[in-house]
Amino acid sequence: MDDVTNPLLDPSPLPYDLPLFALIRHDHYAEALEVTMAAQRAAVEAIASDPDDPTFANTMLPLERSGLALDGVLAVFENASSADTDVEIEAIDARFAPQLAAHRDAIRLDQRLFARVQSLFERLDELGLAPDERYLVERAHHDAVLAGAALDEGSRARLGELNQRLSVLTTAFQQHLLADTNDLALHLTDAESIAGLDEGSASAAREAASSRGLDGWLLTLVLPTGQPALATLAEPATRDALLAASRARGRRGGEHDTRSTLLEIVALRAERAALLGVESHAAAVTAGQTAGSPEAVAALLGELSGPAMRNVEREREQLTARAASLGAREVAASDWAFLAGRVAAEHDALALAEVRQYLEFDRVLVDGVFHAANLLYGLGFEARPDLIGYHPDTLVYEVFEHDGAPVGLYLLDAYTRDSKRGGAWMSSLVEQSDLTGRLPVVVNNLNIPKPAPGEPTLLTFDEAGTLFHEFGHALHGLLARVRFPSQAGTRVFRDFVELPSQVNELWLLRPEVMASFAVHHETGERMPQHLQDRLRATAGIESGFSTAEYLAAAALDQAWHRMPAGATPDLSDLDAVDAFERTALTAIGLAHPLVPPRYGSTYFAHVFAGGYDAGYYSYIWSEVPGADIMAWFEANGGATRANGDRFRQEILGPGGSRDPRESIRALLGREVSIEPLLARRGLG
Ligand SMILES: [Zn+2]
Repeated sequence: MDDVTNPLLDPSPLPYDLPLFALIRHDHYAEALEVTMAAQRAAVEAIASDPDDPTFANTMLPLERSGLALDGVLAVFENASSADTDVEIEAIDARFAPQLAAHRDAIRLDQRLFARVQSLFERLDELGLAPDERYLVERAHHDAVLAGAALDEGSRARLGELNQRLSVLTTAFQQHLLADTNDLALHLTDAESIAGLDEGSASAAREAASSRGLDGWLLTLVLPTGQPALATLAEPATRDALLAASRARGRRGGEHDTRSTLLEIVALRAERAALLGVESHAAAVTAGQTAGSPEAVAALLGELSGPAMRNVEREREQLTARAASLGAREVAASDWAFLAGRVAAEHDALALAEVRQYLEFDRVLVDGVFHAANLLYGLGFEARPDLIGYHPDTLVYEVFEHDGAPVGLYLLDAYTRDSKRGGAWMSSLVEQSDLTGRLPVVVNNLNIPKPAPGEPTLLTFDEAGTLFHEFGHALHGLLARVRFPSQAGTRVFRDFVELPSQVNELWLLRPEVMASFAVHHETGERMPQHLQDRLRATAGIESGFSTAEYLAAAALDQAWHRMPAGATPDLSDLDAVDAFERTALTAIGLAHPLVPPRYGSTYFAHVFAGGYDAGYYSYIWSEVPGADIMAWFEANGGATRANGDRFRQEILGPGGSRDPRESIRALLGREVSIEPLLARRGLG
């Protein structure tokens, strides 16, 4: 009688507490969310009303346990709403988002609970706590203050209203963006218009068209401004149309326009910062990160923008020369990736698409990504087709230590589909924790076009890089060794969380890894040395462009969120969005007609729906120590067990159980230098 129980509330009978996906129905989500929220409320009430003086054991430990069941349900639900959503799930999301915001506020703003945390915080030196316990108290106190726990009652009430409204708005932003992204997919019926597209992408485009009952080809949009097909489509008019569709998302009027939503989000975040007595939303966010302040972020962005734009100009000159030699038109924004590919290819006879023949998905995963993890950490991976993921395309692997001890489960959901949001990401279904005795279950999601049945999945070089990147996050979750689940793996500062994933990208091009996976999918021949050399040599060829488009997006995010309350544009002034973007980019020297920001504001899901608000700078921020650590790996012999174990010991294992600056210093034995980043990105 499976309908008398709820698989989200009952203990899972599966290994590693893998959720029983096969039995989860939509109505289970709502019930499980309500039940676990109520359970946490009751647990928090018991802590808050405890007549005994606050101790770590009677306050922090039960607080840590109180949210475990809800977090578990949310992990499964958020995975569904991101990776395989539908109208019912969207409705549940829209219904529960404000309730969850209110629930979290009720806990963080509970005055009795805050008094207990405050008391522990004031007595930190007397309590004799272990370092991870002390850090747990410090972070809980910081978070409560930033959530408004120290404010008076009227301000706390207004704060609660703002948070609930914001959760509604960010959910709406996400849903409108997904709808507009699907609507704007470029439908082509004329074979000439897709000339240049490699066979794998063309076949995926045919598949996408037929899945919507259309003839011809459908080029679906990925989240960033730049679309992968721009690098190969030979027809300028198709490239123009594709880039225009990408840039139009959220700003073409109609029901899925996101401009008024984002303007309201910006205004409410500014108001919230003012309530907290902080200058701006960006100031509130960065205070709890390694950066510390928006000024520190602006300094780094400013330091990099000049060199990046100089490289952009150099690259533009190369592309202009290439365009002239091809008899092509004057370089337009939509030509950049195409011409950059031609510049890269002109040094040898092989076309860019040739690389894909050596990047067959399974091999890249098993002989590349897993192989690197074996060299570095001694990990072994075993496919578990008997364990059912949440979608037929989800692969499940069991992960082992070199001595066979269990590590956790790794789920990989590689293919794009209309029910999945754009981008690539990692999430945790179960966190490692000594307190709970549980081992981790982590998920990677990618958006690789699915080939037609019977055809191999051949990755682009970028997609292979993304797989290595996301697996770096997965390792952070899998190799966590902490006591408290809220400190496990990726539950670290946002401007530190990208470090393990960036470092893991190193292995894609390292010879000891590349030699084993870069094999022709039909002939089994190794990727020719000159092609490998070219990939290594050209890894930075778009460095100016990709650095500048990233910096532009980071600058937009900061600019929106550094506005003080009262200074934000009127909500009905939709044209204000374009004008604001121009002004912000000009101010930092990143306005360039050929280099649009990696995300336009109207489709900037990271900051208006994805939790990276005032934090998109994080990627380059963590790349400073990340590049330094990559240089450390390279100077010490690359992918060896000794290097891997040290990285695991100091960075991956401790996760959020100590200040990340401490972890970085412990690994390097010195302060971080910016030079490796400048060298890696070719920013002299
Ligand atoms: Zn990442």
